[in-house]
Amino acid sequence: MSVYKPTIGLEIHVQLRTNTKLFSRSKNDPDEKGANRNVSPVDLAHPGTLPVLNKEAVKHVLKVGHAINATVADYTEWDRKNYFYPDIPKAYQISQYKYPLVKGGVLAGVEITRIHLEEDTGRSLHDQGEYSLIDYNRAGMPLMELVTEPVIHSAEDAGNFARELQLLLRTLGVATANMEKGEMRVEANISVSKTEEFGTKVEVKNINSFKAMEKAVAYEIERHIKVLESGGTLIQETRGWNETTGETFSQRSKENAHDYRYFPDPDIPKLWISEIPELSEAALRAKMPELPNEMRNRFTATYNLNKDTAEELVIDSEARTLFENSIACIQTEVANAKDRYKTIANYILSDIRGIESSNIEGDRTNITPQNLADLSEMVQKGELSSRGAKDILLSLYSESASNVKELAESKGLLQQNDTSALERIVSQVIEENPTVVSDIKAGKEPLIQFLIGQGMKLSKGSANPQVLGELFRKALSE
Ligand code: ADP
Ligand code: MG
Repeated sequence: MSVYKPTIGLEIHVQLRTNTKLFSRSKNDPDEKGANRNVSPVDLAHPGTLPVLNKEAVKHVLKVGHAINATVADYTEWDRKNYFYPDIPKAYQISQYKYPLVKGGVLAGVEITRIHLEEDTGRSLHDQGEYSLIDYNRAGMPLMELVTEPVIHSAEDAGNFARELQLLLRTLGVATANMEKGEMRVEANISVSKTEEFGTKVEVKNINSFKAMEKAVAYEIERHIKVLESGGTLIQETRGWNETTGETFSQRSKENAHDYRYFPDPDIPKLWISEIPELSEAALRAKMPELPNEMRNRFTATYNLNKDTAEELVIDSEARTLFENSIACIQTEVANAKDRYKTIANYILSDIRGIESSNIEGDRTNITPQNLADLSEMVQKGELSSRGAKDILLSLYSESASNVKELAESKGLLQQNDTSALERIVSQVIEENPTVVSDIKAGKEPLIQFLIGQGMKLSKGSANPQVLGELFRKALSE
C-alpha cells in the first residue's frame, strides 16, 4: 500500500471580547444566561435602524494581523451574506467577502489565507417540548474568522496550530477563545492523496475541544484511506463529530451548498484604516504585549531554561508571573543566577503544583517570589538540601510563614557544612559499625550509603549528605 499524504486546512471562528456588539450598543456578554436580554432593534434589523461599526473589534483583528506579520488592509468594506435561518434575524449576516481586514501571515508554521470580521448568529434551542426557542443575545457579537491554507499534514499539527492561536489571542487580550464554551469554533477540512494533487475534501464541524479536534481529524484521515483502498470514492460533504462514539457522521453534501448572493452592505460606510490614527500599525504595535514566541526566546536564551520548561511557563500565565517576580528578586550579576532560575522554575512547575494537587490545606499565594529566591539561594550554597527545600515549600504553603531562613532554622533543616561537627559524627558512625566498615574496605563500596544514612540520622537530618560522603570516604581511605 503506497502512502497517502493527509492535507488539512482550518476555518476558525472566534468570539472577540468587546464591551458591545459589532454594530450595535447591545452588551457583548457571552455569559448572559437570561435569554434575549442583550438585544437591540439594530441586532434585529428593525426598519429605520442603522448599524454602527465597533472600532474595538476592528482593532482586535488588526492586532492579530500584525502579530502574525500579515498584510493588513487599508481599504475594507462590509458585505451581506444572504440566507434564511431563524437564528439570523436580518436574513443576512454582515461579513467581509472581497476585502478581509487581514491577508497572509504565518502562525505556528502555518500560512494564513485571511482573517475577517463578521457577526455571530443567535442561538436556536430545540427540544423545548413542542417548540424551538431562539435567543438573540449572541446575534451580532463580533466574530473573527480565520482561514488557513491547506498546508497542515497531521492531526497533531492541526491541534498545535489551534492551541497556538488560542494562546496568541489570549496574550493579545482580544478573546478568551475557550473551545468548550464555543468561544472558539474550529472546522477542519481534510483530504488525503497519493499524488501532488489534492484529494476530495471533507469538512468536519461540532468540534468542542483540542483533543476532539485531533481525534476527529485522525478519524477522517483513516476513513478516507479506507474508502480509497477499498476502491470507493469520497464525496465532498460536511460531517459532524460525535464525541461519544468517536466517529464523524454525514450532515450534508456539497450539492445543496448555498449561494449567498453577497453584496456590499449599503448601510455601512467603507473603511479606510489609514484615516484612523489609532488603527495604524505603529499605534497598535506600541500597545502590544510580549508575544508567545518572544517569551519563548527570552526564557530559553536569556534564562537558559530548556524548551519544555519555557513552554510550560508560556502557557500558564499564573506560573509565569510567579517565576518572573521571583527571578526579579535575584540580581543578574550573582554567580550561577541561571542555575537558580532553573531551580525556581522547578519549584513552581513541579513542587508547588504537586502540593496543590494533594489535599493539603493552604494557599499558593503564601509562597512569595522572595521566598523562592531565598530558597534557591540556600540550596545553591548548600545551606539547605533539596529535600529540605521541599519541606519548606510545604510549610510556606500551609502555614504562611514568611521567612525561609528562620523556617529552616526552626525546623532544624539548616545543613551543617561545619566539618569539625560532621567529623565527630563520622568517627562515631565508623566506631559503631565495624562490620559494615570492613565490608566496605573489602570492596562493597555502595555500603557507604548506609554509613551516610546513619550520619544523617545522628545529625537529625541537618548534615549535608554530600559533605558527609566525602568525609566517610576520606576517613575510610586512611
Ligand atoms: P470552499 O470553497 O469549499 O469553502 P475554500 O477554498 O474556501 O473551500 O477552503 C476552505 C478551507 O479548506 C481552507 O481552510 C482551505 O485551506 C481548506 N482546503 C481547501 N482544499 C483542501 C483540501 N483539498 N484538503 C484539505 N483542506 C483543504
Ligand atoms: Mg470557503
